[in-house]
Amino acid sequence: MKPDELRRRLEFYQDIGMTTLYRRPATALARGTDAAEADVSGAPPASAAVQPSISLPPLEPSGDTLLRILEDIGDCRRCRLHEGRTKLVFGVGNERAPLVFVGEGPGADEDAQGIPFVGRAGQLLTQMIEGTAKKEGIELRREDVYICNVVKCRPPGNRTPEADEMEICGQFLYRQLSAIAPKAICALGGTAARALTGRKEGVTKMRGRWLEWRGIPVMVSYHPSYLLRPYNQDAKREAWEDLKKVLHFVYD
Ligand code: SF4
Repeated sequence: MKPDELRRRLEFYQDIGMTTLYRRPATALARGTDAAEADVSGAPPASAAVQPSISLPPLEPSGDTLLRILEDIGDCRRCRLHEGRTKLVFGVGNERAPLVFVGEGPGADEDAQGIPFVGRAGQLLTQMIEGTAKKEGIELRREDVYICNVVKCRPPGNRTPEADEMEICGQFLYRQLSAIAPKAICALGGTAARALTGRKEGVTKMRGRWLEWRGIPVMVSYHPSYLLRPYNQDAKREAWEDLKKVLHFVYD
């Protein structure tokens, strides 16, 4: 199979949520069977000795762009979250931003408008970005960064996205991040931090530290909706410290 055909086929499998392939033993190849074509069911072949599974890395077409990713998402129904959405919330901001903020998923306001972080939490995020930058002597507006979420459709009742939903939709987040190639990422809240870093800890353990997504530094901080709760004064101060750290790293 030619590389382009193979890529298209693998993209199709990823689109339907299949992320693991099993290798056929070499004898199958010797019989002239194309392993990638013949054995993609996600289950080991019954008649063959099981070979180690291969987790597919997310596929980014070469020269990927946000427009191409948006076209690929289309009227996405790849996971159950499409059922309750009003608008798919792809992302907003500068396609070449050196800094990307990643949240968990759209809320009610975002779902209605199709734009991430436009409700109360979003307004707080905008104030934090622009206010902190100004205080630190950095010229920065919200539209200079890029803002998106792990899942692009609103989970019912604002529940946390399920693991399979994040895995399926995460391929688009990964492609967005690869296409933008920012200098740093700021993960807002534990769900985004865990989706990007694969770690299991809570946000309080991870926040304020530099972690990594494919070689790109990731600063973890609180989700602005957490900061809106009245008893979280300490968290607000910590989030401000996190933001200062990431802004100086990216823009100094
Ligand atoms: S959350 Fe993502 S994968 Fe699920 S339907 Fe929406 S866009 Fe598609």
